[in-house]
Amino acid sequence: MLENKNQSQTTLSDLGEFKLIEHLTNQIKIHHKSTIKGVGDDCAVLEIKNKQILVTTDLLVEGVHFDLSYMPLKHLGYKAVMVNLSDVYAMNGEAKQITVSIAVSNRFPLEALEELYAGIHLACATYQVDLVGGDTTSSTKGILISITAIGEANKEDIVYRDGAKPSDLLVVTGDLGAAYLGLQVLEREKQVFEVNPNSQPDLENYTYLIERHLKPEARKDVVKLLKDLKVKPTSMIDISDGLSSEILHLCRQSKVGCNLYEDKIPLDQQVITTCEEFNMDSTTIALSGGEDYELLFTISQDDYPKIKGNPNLTVIGHITEKEEGKYLITRGNQKIELTAQGWNAMKEE
Ligand code: ADP
Ligand code: MG
Repeated sequence: MLENKNQSQTTLSDLGEFKLIEHLTNQIKIHHKSTIKGVGDDCAVLEIKNKQILVTTDLLVEGVHFDLSYMPLKHLGYKAVMVNLSDVYAMNGEAKQITVSIAVSNRFPLEALEELYAGIHLACATYQVDLVGGDTTSSTKGILISITAIGEANKEDIVYRDGAKPSDLLVVTGDLGAAYLGLQVLEREKQVFEVNPNSQPDLENYTYLIERHLKPEARKDVVKLLKDLKVKPTSMIDISDGLSSEILHLCRQSKVGCNLYEDKIPLDQQVITTCEEFNMDSTTIALSGGEDYELLFTISQDDYPKIKGNPNLTVIGHITEKEEGKYLITRGNQKIELTAQGWNAMKEE
């Protein structure tokens, strides 16, 4: 996980907006020729030739999307970038630039924003994206971060949600459910701590789960892998809300049905053991937990030999005619209709 520094504190009002922006952005390194002008003028200037431009934005609000009592600011910065890059990769594109806008209350010292930006800069360096602008303002309560990502792709490479065809295979990257369980573990520890502030959390058995919640990685590597394998998905989406709601999006937009096989859903061993401990059903967690930031896509059956045996990719089902409906086939060979229980629905239970 990312390290945290503990330092003395500087209030933001001592600094002023311009010095603050300068302070947060002076170490930016530009990676791309397409970034003609980054931070420092009224607009960033980009020059992108013969490509289509992908634009995506996400807004994260303290108390709604994250809880700073167990989400360190450096992780928050990193994750806020990942959430956006993941959307660009879900179009089979390359992310090139981001802008970052923040609203902060004066309860945050400069050092807190330095931590936030350390996570943002780390994400930019790791994923080779340029931070080219943003906006900085105050809020009456809490912190709010809005990131916009800009990506590029050749017209013929872009993958939309609406291209899945009957008999296509349904494929997922990585494994599912861990980020949601990581959040459950952190929430449980927070409650224990509130009752007994002297308690020491023992998180050893949950390291993978917590890492998946606090430091997700967008699947840039999968976009490259698919290119190398010469596979162009027929449809694709990233898994932010949970597998079942994302499958339903693909099916609805492609006007198809699907059969998803319970026994094929990839789960990490820590997900299985923690589900047993928490008395939760691991399939439900994989279907309805959220924030895995894996990619879900469909490929033509002809492409199956190209992906077969790849440890990053798991075939979990296939596409059917729309009239056949959208089903989960359980281990016991029961057919259950897929419903959209997203991450939000679970939170309200
Ligand atoms: P303006 O008055 O045109 O909104 P600002 O003073 O807000 O300009 O911003 C000056 C420059 O700093 C611009 O290039 C802007 O994109 C950039 N910038 C402002 N806030 C941030 C931020 N939080 N992170 C990164 N860049 C920022
Ligand atoms: Mg501004």
